[in-house]
Amino acid sequence: MDDFQYKNGQLHCEQVNLDELANRFGTPLYVYSRRTFEDHYDRIAQAFAALEPVICYSIKSCGNVHLCKLLAERGAGMDVVSGGELHRARLAKAEMGKVVYAGVGKTDAEIRQAIEAGIGYFNIESEAEFKNIASIAKAMNARARAALRVNPDVDPKTHVKTTTGKKETKFGVDIERARRFFETFGKDSNLELCAIHLHIGSPVLTVDPYVQAIEKALGLIKDLKQSGHAVSVLDIGGGFGANYQSDQSPVAADYAAKIVPLLLPFKQAGGQIILEPGRTIAANAGMLLTRVQYVKMGGSKKFIIVDTGMHHLIRPAMYDAFHFLWPTNVAPNHEPTQRKAEMDLPGLEKADVVGPICESSDYLAKDRMLPPMARGDLLAVYTAGAYGMVMASNYNAMPRPAEVLVSGAKATLIRRRETYDDLVGPELNVGA
Ligand SMILES: *Cc1c(COP(=O)(O)O)cnc(C)c1O
Repeated sequence: MDDFQYKNGQLHCEQVNLDELANRFGTPLYVYSRRTFEDHYDRIAQAFAALEPVICYSIKSCGNVHLCKLLAERGAGMDVVSGGELHRARLAKAEMGKVVYAGVGKTDAEIRQAIEAGIGYFNIESEAEFKNIASIAKAMNARARAALRVNPDVDPKTHVKTTTGKKETKFGVDIERARRFFETFGKDSNLELCAIHLHIGSPVLTVDPYVQAIEKALGLIKDLKQSGHAVSVLDIGGGFGANYQSDQSPVAADYAAKIVPLLLPFKQAGGQIILEPGRTIAANAGMLLTRVQYVKMGGSKKFIIVDTGMHHLIRPAMYDAFHFLWPTNVAPNHEPTQRKAEMDLPGLEKADVVGPICESSDYLAKDRMLPPMARGDLLAVYTAGAYGMVMASNYNAMPRPAEVLVSGAKATLIRRRETYDDLVGPELNVGA
């Protein structure tokens, strides 16, 4: 599943002892396993190999340039949602023709930047956006390609804040509108509309919503062909699950088992498939290490107060997300054999794990059964690789954590810890 495992009561990332890592680099610390990160990508590439897809890694899930570079070196494209992410893709030396660019609010400057870079596809979210990109391309005397983002109106059965493929969403257009869209814009000479894009939500923990969405998209492509619009590319988006709890998510091969046969005829007829996985690659490849500061009782409730929180990992506060967490250093009978909310081991104590931020939503876990913990103990927050560091903020003027990449017995700093000067730098010497 991943390369974070206990050896003699000590949690390791690959061959590196996490207590030693925390002593060396300090806490809070994001730690990534190179082997897990690359392995998750390889599994997708293998599972979908029959379709020869372009796999565009979703930078917004976990965008450290050094991590993006690992995938670019394996031939991955990149899925970006801003000019800043396009900048990261360039620094990672991703092939620009394999970059797809989604997002409802692309600015003129971002559009120009993407046309100049020569990206593969703009994923178009509205009529107004298509017109704007086409007119910018015309003014630049350039040609670009577009994929229309379609809402297949399926329910991915995930959190309301990460549901994107229903009819009432700000993303894309519904199927009826898609037909009219091609009638109106299908023959533009500067912005070639030749692809359909889907992204239904995240995480999608069953395969059926993909099957439903792809069937609808293939139906639309067939109709469009009959009315003279050739669609040669289908981008099925991302949203594949991760194991926040043991065996919670289908594996890449499970998704592929149902999706590949559905798309094979399209591929055999000369079509190109694009995938945009993020979470399923990064989530279980990363962990957030934090040090216990205080243990405090509030009435009959126990609070474990740590040196990180919603400012570094906002998922519990924002999505009510579950993250397994466990001390890095435990007695043999406290090594977790699986990761789940209700751990059935002797001598556990119920506690809330909370951060230092002045907000009551600043928590990492509530009513969690954990081994007894004391000031100075190190706690590992699992499955924090995706939507972790990328969503971290400086709220309460807290510097963001450092990031370390482990490969075998070697640990490399891939982002240094922020300093107080980093916090105030942009405010100083601004001429005021
Ligand atoms: C966020 C996003 C993805 C990646 O989603 P994951 O759940 O991380 O796989 C892919 N495509 C688009 C358009 C996105 O916005």
